Amino acid sequence: MASFASEVKNEIARLMYENACDRTAEMAALLRMGAAITFGAGHTFGVNFTTENAAVARKVISLLREEGAGVHTEIATRRARRLKKNNNYLVRIAPQPRVAALLEHLGLMHEGRVNLGQERKGLAILRKNCCRAAYLRGAFLGGGSVNRPEASYHLELVTPSYAFADLLHTLMRRLDFPAGITDRRDVYVVYLKEGDAIADFLGMMQADKAVEAFEVARNLKEVRGQVNRLVNCETANLQKAVDAAGRQLADIRCLADAVGIRELPPLLRETAEARIAHPEAALSELAALLCVSKPGLQHRLQKLHALACSYRAEEELGGAGEKARGASGAASVDRG
Ligand SMILES: [Zn+2]
Repeated sequence: MASFASEVKNEIARLMYENACDRTAEMAALLRMGAAITFGAGHTFGVNFTTENAAVARKVISLLREEGAGVHTEIATRRARRLKKNNNYLVRIAPQPRVAALLEHLGLMHEGRVNLGQERKGLAILRKNCCRAAYLRGAFLGGGSVNRPEASYHLELVTPSYAFADLLHTLMRRLDFPAGITDRRDVYVVYLKEGDAIADFLGMMQADKAVEAFEVARNLKEVRGQVNRLVNCETANLQKAVDAAGRQLADIRCLADAVGIRELPPLLRETAEARIAHPEAALSELAALLCVSKPGLQHRLQKLHALACSYRAEEELGGAGEKARGASGAASVDRG
């Protein structure tokens, strides 16, 4: 199964911005993420761009066709040796005279020097918000990832360059994304952790299908949460009923030991016997069995409880055998 990240990339790699400024910005970030500059004879430059995503490789080629002013590109596929590894696609621009101008245009070179290490302040291609969004889309295509929405919320842009990570972080903040930045082994990670922010970022990249999948999964999550809360509440109620029945049975056992069930007044005896016969019945079920109202049954159970309490108190006082009534006014037991 393709990862959600590659689904998103497949969706947005096919889209082309209408404005030239945005195509340039997207391309600049894409190359900044995944390209290495190569050097050729006669002070010429070339570019090697690698990606695991075929659609992204195709996008780089079509962007180069628009932006590249006639630079010659080739594509090579490196098949994965191991089963779990993905294929690698290499888009290669052999060193040639025109590349320097292209790299200048993309802000990857400045005054004849390669500029992959630090970004110039106020990069011309990042002055407008439309271009900033396009730049972030390029960065995602080149080195981004996002969790499937059913999993925990996480979207990230990964680069080995701190300066570039810092630039991406600043751009995201400027567009009101609550982005964080951290390092992981030898790379820097700019990330989003909130569901809303990730949905917004996907929307900004025009990944409409992904946004929809995200919303559906989020709704499901919410419904599942509500169901769980209901089930938990139901379980708590059941537990309460079981606990109450347990207390009632303890009272009845106490009275059985002290005087015997048969010695209880008829209504209490009937109630005790019904509870023993139906230890798990809810109060309303027990009331129905005894043809009594629920408050009526509660009243009887309270009487049983008070009676049991008075016997327990007696036992604690050591008055075994002497059935003196407690001060609680427990129902009298007709022993005759
Ligand atoms: Zn623009």
